[in-house]
Amino acid sequence: MEHQDFFEFDHLIIGSGLAGLTGALHLAEAGRSVAILSKRAADEGSTCRAQGGIACVTNPDDSFDAHVQDTLNAGAKLCNEKVVRTIVEAGPAAVQRLIERGAHFTTRGELGFDDGKENFDLGREGGHTERRVLHSGDITGREIERILVEAASRHPRITIFEYHYAIDLIMARHNAEMADNRCLGAYVLDVRSGRVKTFRSLTTTLACGGAGKVYLYTSNPDVACGDGEAMAYRAGAKIANMEFIQFHPTILYDANVRSFLISEAVRGEGAILKMRDPDGNYREFMKKYHPMESLAPRDVVARAIDSEMKRTGGECAYLDITHKSEAELKNRFPNIFAKCLEVGVNMSKDLIPVVPAEHYVCGGVMTDVNGYTGIPGLYAAGECACTGLHGANRLASNSLLEALVVANLSSIHIDREFGHLLRTAPNFPVPAWSCGNATNSDEMVVITHNWDEIRRFMWDYVGIFRTNKRLERAKTRIKLIRKEIDKYYWDFHVTPDLLDLRNIATTAELIIDCSMSRKESRGLHYNADYPYLDPDLNGVDTVLQRSVRYYD
Ligand SMILES: Cc1cc2nc3c(=O)[nH]c(=O)nc-3n(C[C@H](O)[C@H](O)[C@H](O)COP(=O)(O)OP(=O)(O)OC[C@H]3O[C@@H](n4cnc5c(N)ncnc54)[C@H](O)[C@@H]3O)c2cc1C
Repeated sequence: MEHQDFFEFDHLIIGSGLAGLTGALHLAEAGRSVAILSKRAADEGSTCRAQGGIACVTNPDDSFDAHVQDTLNAGAKLCNEKVVRTIVEAGPAAVQRLIERGAHFTTRGELGFDDGKENFDLGREGGHTERRVLHSGDITGREIERILVEAASRHPRITIFEYHYAIDLIMARHNAEMADNRCLGAYVLDVRSGRVKTFRSLTTTLACGGAGKVYLYTSNPDVACGDGEAMAYRAGAKIANMEFIQFHPTILYDANVRSFLISEAVRGEGAILKMRDPDGNYREFMKKYHPMESLAPRDVVARAIDSEMKRTGGECAYLDITHKSEAELKNRFPNIFAKCLEVGVNMSKDLIPVVPAEHYVCGGVMTDVNGYTGIPGLYAAGECACTGLHGANRLASNSLLEALVVANLSSIHIDREFGHLLRTAPNFPVPAWSCGNATNSDEMVVITHNWDEIRRFMWDYVGIFRTNKRLERAKTRIKLIRKEIDKYYWDFHVTPDLLDLRNIATTAELIIDCSMSRKESRGLHYNADYPYLDPDLNGVDTVLQRSVRYYD
């Protein structure tokens, strides 16, 4: 028999990364009660791992127009220009607020430069025509996450529930008394006690981060299972552009290190990509692929490395930044320098071995620039949302900016709607969680086997280089696996592993379906059977929506 626990807050935020914490702080400061859920410890997410920084116009030589144009260029005619402009222009004020909350960004003076000591040291990354990336050494995300978790933990109107795993959104269609669909909160597994709790709220924000665990190789943390997209899809929200998966070209290649990223900022500081030819010499190769060479956009670099590895039979590519001194590198990249040294690579003397890996999902839960999904009470922000900023390819360091700005805008939108929400949703009853005849599973192997299989075929068939045949193979397999998981899901008590698997399978299918329906190559989506961009599809999003019946 499951125990029941009911919790009631004005707002429920699922995720404690940059998007979730920012939204929560704004809502709490406006006088509302907020619950933040985190499926593991509060600081376990992609935000904490971000190294490069946050793109924002702060340099007088830079301009909003230039940042907008760079974003549009990367997005391959699929960005929503209005959204891009709104987010870019809101950047400086949002970053200033972050600084007021205690975030520190590295200045020129701290790096020993005499010019404009008080000015931020601005990094340059692939696809940016200007230096505009604010950073805290090379641990920008850790710094931001630290100050936000501290602020949220101190706030009297915010309660952070760590190790609380949102299972599914509670929708009005679960409740025969509500006339229209709306989100009423979420069912949540308390991981430590194994109890399922009911959280009731006027609004719910999905801020669940990425979906890297869908792929065999990823830079993402273990929490990144596409939960936001999967829950939203099951609830009947629109999901868009999931075919656009960014593969980071340079993850450290070492058997003993899991998912460590060599930031694009290293190439920004002059590192050159090289390949070891069969004759043992290291040669530059990016000239063949793009005029910006090693600083070309990520998708171009990832595909180039993939193709060079296939051509030479090499296990990895290499980054060469040996023209910089040890002191300079330690100063600018202390974290990366130390990690490389741990595996025997001194960046100032040795080439750094790197391979591509899944890094970022450009698509997600479809929202407007305020994070609103169109379903009353349901918002999404951060990596799990698709606002139209990234289009078919994300410009480096635009994701922290988007998470920050959209979380701000969504809290303003929610605040504006608050009175209306109170009037239209009076004390709505929500049905209790039912576990039916579920028992404890004694077959963990079903979970681990399916998990491994999905991640491997997604890497092989729905990765950097796609074809119709590969996508069809992936579709056949995911259909079978999803059927098996569905049966397993209803027969056994929910556990974090089972929930991860269920969400990974749903998200994998969303990526496959979007990839199959885009019959062209654009931005991050490359299908060798349709190798060219189709101009008729400029500005055309791929949108999936599950048809849900009321009261089902
Ligand atoms: C290695 C790495 C480096 C990066 N570097 C940069 C960079 O330099 N600049 C940049 O702009 N971007 C960078 N990115 C991308 C950027 O960090 C992320 O897109 C961004 O931090 C996402 O923030 P978020 O708040 O959406 O999600 P996250 O920070 O990932 O947080 C997600 C949260 O959701 C919670 N969660 C998920 N599912 C559930 C559930 N079912 N129930 C309860 N809680 C749940 C998780 O526990 C976590 O707290 C990088 C990403 C990685 C992986």
